[in-house]
Amino acid sequence: MSEERTRLAAPMFEIENLHAEIDNREILKGVNLTVNEGETHALMGPNGSGKSTLAYVIAGDPRYEVTEGSIRFQGEDILEWSPDERARKGLFLAFQYPTVIPGVSMANFLRMAVTNVRNARAEAAAAEGGSVQPMTPREFRRLMREKMALLKMYDSFATRYLNEGFSGGEKKRAEILQMALLEPKMAVLDETDSGLDIDALKVVSEGVNNLSGPNVGMLLITHYQRLLNFIKPDFVHIMMEGRVVESGGAELALKLEEMGYEGLRGRFAEARSA
Ligand code: ADP
Ligand code: MG
Repeated sequence: MSEERTRLAAPMFEIENLHAEIDNREILKGVNLTVNEGETHALMGPNGSGKSTLAYVIAGDPRYEVTEGSIRFQGEDILEWSPDERARKGLFLAFQYPTVIPGVSMANFLRMAVTNVRNARAEAAAAEGGSVQPMTPREFRRLMREKMALLKMYDSFATRYLNEGFSGGEKKRAEILQMALLEPKMAVLDETDSGLDIDALKVVSEGVNNLSGPNVGMLLITHYQRLLNFIKPDFVHIMMEGRVVESGGAELALKLEEMGYEGLRGRFAEARSA
């Protein structure tokens, strides 16, 4: 098979036997997870199981060292790519604890982030003989207004300073707006395990439901089942002690709610000692 064919035949996003450590402590102990185009996956698990660590490793956070395994995106190994390169190639990561940047308005921050990524994509397309025009400020404003309307956000939101005094819900809105503007191919959202009110949950789910489509892959990381009342995942995975220990359909989240993590942990321990 030609290289191009191999690339097209590969799953969109594939994590294989991923081991990662921080400060010489192994947190991820062989994670396997595959997301195909158009699929929404939920990754659940008790606190401390390594969910956020996985998100940081996918983003390329230099604090973590990958000691074994691979992460491939559209058939290419992303572990060699800088975080910036990962974003330009169409990966989007939303974190549990977003940064505060005083004095930078939402609109300016988004314009920088989005034009960076889009102009890099335009350059890449040009290098391959295509002709994608870089985005002008005027086009950006039009696009931002369009996405904000879609997400039912007030215009004044764009002039606020980034994350300064933002409520949990507003921070989520900012992230979701950023995601909508970047139009990623693969989005990883690490949910706040606490403090998200019902409005914030709705914003996140509307954003996710708006973005999802036949060409987009999603990985939603969440401790609680309640986000899945708004977004129906195609697959649910349970992470424990640095591994995905069980995978299933949407019904797995309901089973989890019934049994609790402790119930599942008991079963997992039995299976390991058997
Ligand atoms: P989750 O998101 O599932 O709650 P995390 O990925 O945040 O889990 O944490 C996984 C484990 O990694 C926890 O046991 C946590 O204590 C540990 N951990 C996180 N950061 C560090 C660090 N800087 N040094 C050592 N251990 C850490
Ligand atoms: Mg976490």
